[in-house]
Amino acid sequence: MDCKITLIPGDGIGPEIVREAKKVLDRIAEKYGHKFDYTKILMGGCSIDEYGVPLTDEAVAIAKASDAVLLGAVGGNVGNSKWYDVAPNLRPEAGLLKIRKELELFANIRPAYLYKELQDACPLKPEIIGDGFDMVIMRELTGGLYFGKRHTEEVDGVMTATDTLTYNEDEIRRIAIKGFEIAMKRRKKVTSVDKANVLDSSRLWRKVVKEVAADYPEVEVTDMLVDNCAMQLVMNPGQFDVILTENMFGDILSDEASMITGSIGMLSSASLGKTKLGLYEPSHGSAPDIAGKDIANPIATILSAAMMLRYSFDLDKEADAIEAAVAQVLKEGYRTVDIMSEGMTQCSTTKMGDLIAERV
Ligand code: NAD
Repeated sequence: MDCKITLIPGDGIGPEIVREAKKVLDRIAEKYGHKFDYTKILMGGCSIDEYGVPLTDEAVAIAKASDAVLLGAVGGNVGNSKWYDVAPNLRPEAGLLKIRKELELFANIRPAYLYKELQDACPLKPEIIGDGFDMVIMRELTGGLYFGKRHTEEVDGVMTATDTLTYNEDEIRRIAIKGFEIAMKRRKKVTSVDKANVLDSSRLWRKVVKEVAADYPEVEVTDMLVDNCAMQLVMNPGQFDVILTENMFGDILSDEASMITGSIGMLSSASLGKTKLGLYEPSHGSAPDIAGKDIANPIATILSAAMMLRYSFDLDKEADAIEAAVAQVLKEGYRTVDIMSEGMTQCSTTKMGDLIAERV
């Protein structure tokens, strides 16, 4: 298979972790007979330094013309970088918002998977962890409360702020379809999360999800209220496969789910739109405090590359191979400093990439 991949190393540890993910992708290409063509573009602080803006239109055009985009991270030290005290549209993070908008990415997928070898980092009790958990949170990314009309005004002498939460059925349908499609590639279980006992938007959400579910008879669907879901995540996380939910609920639940996995350096993510073109990136930021030291954990980015193979290219076998290689390296006791524990072998960013590529 021939695939065009846009690489966005970005700032901080971005270039180091993207380099390791590319190393693993190159090994996949070699082993399975694919051709990956890479084009690098600048985004974030490095683009501001070079072009005065966090993302140029030329860079967007390159990303749009590719089959998938793999991103490291953007941004400098919060509160203490040359890119901090500038207009919001000229900050590194504005590049991120622009590329998500330009690529029309409305679905965000964040897996939360607990590796047996990293169980000690999980804040839950062993009897709750049980055999571990392996879920994805599918979050709607471009609608709902964060994109609704808002204003603050004085009403009868009292300051009053209003936010609005709007979803139309098309917005719900397209994310629901994505959720069911992902479930079909997994254990075929969808938990649709809403607040239908209170919110109209949730009632519509429930109705549309039910309609979409009719097209996926193999998938088991459960509706769950968001407050219950927040509890279930820490009481019995093993019950979940795909959690399908709207923007704000997904924002909160995905952070909760990632916390119970223990390490930020392990968490991948994908943002998808109508087409197969997706944006894949680790859930963490640019970690300027450890940039350039060859100690960052590249696993979140390498697992994001695996998601890219699975969701943009339908290369499930190859994605499985990367995930198995990561599990193998952890089983053999190799750890970057962020996940290091007694008796394990500490290794650098480069070494971790080498080890995973070798085991693919
Ligand atoms: P961060 O995720 O960059 O770092 C938080 C902590 O986790 C730091 O101590 C860091 O060293 C550590 N860490 C993060 N990733 C790691 C890895 N792969 N291996 C080992 N340790 C890791 O969050 P922050 O410090 O709040 O933000 C730093 C910059 O990143 C800011 O400019 C912020 O805006 C930006 N940011 C970018 C993205 C993105 O590009 N998608 C996301 C979040 C934050």
